[in-house]
Amino acid sequence: MLPRRQFVQQLSALTLGTTLLPKVGLSHASTAKVYTVTGAIDASELGTCLTHEHIMSNFGGERSYDPNYDVSALKAQVIPYLKKIKSLGVDSILDCTTAYFGRDVQLLRELSEESELYLITNTGYYGAANDRYVPEHAYEESAEQLAERWVAEFERGIDGTDIRPGFIKIAADGGEVSKIDQKLMRAALKTSRDTNLTIACHTGNNPAVPQLALQLMEEESTEPQRWIWTHAHQMNTADELLKMAQQGLWISLDGLRTNESYGARNHKVINHHVQLLQTLKDGGLLAQVLISHDGNSFPRGGAIRPYEAIFTRFIPLLKKNGFTTEEIDQLLQVNPQRAFAIS
Ligand SMILES: [Zn+2]
Repeated sequence: MLPRRQFVQQLSALTLGTTLLPKVGLSHASTAKVYTVTGAIDASELGTCLTHEHIMSNFGGERSYDPNYDVSALKAQVIPYLKKIKSLGVDSILDCTTAYFGRDVQLLRELSEESELYLITNTGYYGAANDRYVPEHAYEESAEQLAERWVAEFERGIDGTDIRPGFIKIAADGGEVSKIDQKLMRAALKTSRDTNLTIACHTGNNPAVPQLALQLMEEESTEPQRWIWTHAHQMNTADELLKMAQQGLWISLDGLRTNESYGARNHKVINHHVQLLQTLKDGGLLAQVLISHDGNSFPRGGAIRPYEAIFTRFIPLLKKNGFTTEEIDQLLQVNPQRAFAIS
């Protein structure tokens, strides 16, 4: 890892020159910051950051705003696991569980305090999985109205707490981008324009989504660096990823969850991530890439889907393939801070 001062210098050099002025009536310090569930921190304090995990979720279950977790079972499983993750060198985790399939910001705050990890929650709605987690009102309201709800979570806090989202999470289905998914994308861009929050859009192997996002950005006056192509590792080749990274979008290779029961599949998954990363590096685009596992420490009350292979398997493999410590720090420290800092 870089010495702290050198790291902060590198970060500020990278964020200088951007014009991300807040447009809402919040008091912002002059430094770049990130909102965690325990309050605002300097972006540099994110340290080593996992940008796409699920601390807990009810994904696969019925849509419900109230997650109704078995809190004591959850804490018994999740807190020791978070402590283990911290011992691997992780400082912060973005929780990608949205409202209507398990977001619980007060519980996240308790988990953060007990594990001493920074946790970051989100605003937005999940439009993938055939829209099963999109609430009724999203069909009736305009993109502007949805954006007002999400901006209000940023300005006033979520669920009557003072906990703010640190990013916007949306999702789109495969194929031609549906009307509701387009509306969620537009609402996310409006929210980003008003808050400077970055959008993580579950996309997978559908390049039509980032292509449309680039068009909508022009209409909504937002910048490509505020958009993440989430689950981009689901593409077979890096061709589209290179194109979109060149346009300034973030590329998230976040499928590094492994499990002993997956057997040989683990190898295939990890090697695919190495290959995509190598191609992006050869294209001079490592500064546009985020890596994570999409793990889950409490998936509908089930067994942990681990988020640790980056440290136990992926980094050793990257080093074997010629990646330097600086390049690895770029992926896990510098890039997350550039991607999610609000100046
Ligand atoms: Zn996910």
